[in-house]
Amino acid sequence: MNARLMNADLLITGITQMATPRGAGAKRGSQMRELTVIENAAIAITDDRFAWVGPAGEWSGAAAHTVDLGGRAVVPGLVDPHTHAVWAGDRLADFDARTSGVSYEQILASGGGIWSTIRATTAASDEELVSLAEQRVWSLARSGATVVEVKSGYGFSIRGELRMLEVIRTLASRLPIRIVPTLLIHIPPAEARERNAYLDQVQSDLIPEVARRALAQAVDIFIEKEAWNAAEAESVLTCALEHGLRIKVHAEQFHSVGGLELALRLGALSIDHLEACTPRQYELFRNSPTIATILPGVSLHLGIPKAPGRPLIDAGAAVAVGTDLNPGSSPLFSTSAALGLAVRLNGLTAAEALVAGTVNAAHALGLTDVGRIEAGAQADFGVLHSSDWRDLIYCMGANPVREVWCKGQRIASEKDATAAERREREDG
Ligand SMILES: [Zn+2]
Repeated sequence: MNARLMNADLLITGITQMATPRGAGAKRGSQMRELTVIENAAIAITDDRFAWVGPAGEWSGAAAHTVDLGGRAVVPGLVDPHTHAVWAGDRLADFDARTSGVSYEQILASGGGIWSTIRATTAASDEELVSLAEQRVWSLARSGATVVEVKSGYGFSIRGELRMLEVIRTLASRLPIRIVPTLLIHIPPAEARERNAYLDQVQSDLIPEVARRALAQAVDIFIEKEAWNAAEAESVLTCALEHGLRIKVHAEQFHSVGGLELALRLGALSIDHLEACTPRQYELFRNSPTIATILPGVSLHLGIPKAPGRPLIDAGAAVAVGTDLNPGSSPLFSTSAALGLAVRLNGLTAAEALVAGTVNAAHALGLTDVGRIEAGAQADFGVLHSSDWRDLIYCMGANPVREVWCKGQRIASEKDATAAERREREDG
């Protein structure tokens, strides 16, 4: 719309650079390098949407309020497409053991690893789980995330998984950002008979109830030598599709056991991990709507091979990046840091990382109204300390994000936090 005719609720000025992907939908291959960067930009917001975006000099509409950012860069709200943010207990003993040379298998055999997380999560109250997850998701939000996917998967029973999804629903009601819930069929019971019985219950009880109560938007399954095989995954994912749920998978993390090919054939939203993905498989993404989601925090924390982000993009894939926030393999509490790691570990450029963490990550969640700063999209954005947007990716250790805005409202500001701390000090 012509800026001259516009009446907006809010005009944001003082933007040295506004960097954003263009248009809804996944960006693949060389499209991932195409960013729009506007110098000396202004953004108009009406209700919870962007109404106009352009060079400040071209704005001649009217706005009820104006906020001057004082010369800072602005990027779209980040989308974190893969987290396990609900858990209790910790994995510090595992961390100590692993860094002292004990293998992951030995830790698991002695009842540690994921089993300790399942036990602690089962023992915690709903309220404990919500408040623990709330702090973690706030940490992602302060790093720039305005949409965060959260998976179940530490329930290990039908009742336990439903409870995790109920906890995620409560969590969503307490946060200003958007939470996207996913049902994760994580690890199978050890005994073959129990394994088959659990698989049956997942399909006859769990998935139908999750769909009926709209407790999740997608079903995810861990396809791996030590988890579910491709045939088991096919029956679970087909059941999910029949109940109107979207699907995604954890696949090619340690081994190729058919998970990637299955997910592409069934039209999954995304295939996540891909550390063991081979050159023959890169090509399969070229003409596929399925997003390749890479999780560099896992490679860093566990010291496992890095997902082939660079060759996947060069082969024409649409790549997204997530934190995989979880206690065992990726205690990474910053969505912007995940983008910085994808540049250093997976070979993405800064522009590709921004696309991977915004519009492509949104596509991995089936969302089209977030992940870009354009008229009509939801008014989610981050304001950096820096005047150059690339500091979002470059900065390590300190938070490059100064303010976070969601649906046209400022939800987090370092300035507010500093003022609150000062008041606390004065009161104390
Ligand atoms: Zn995961």
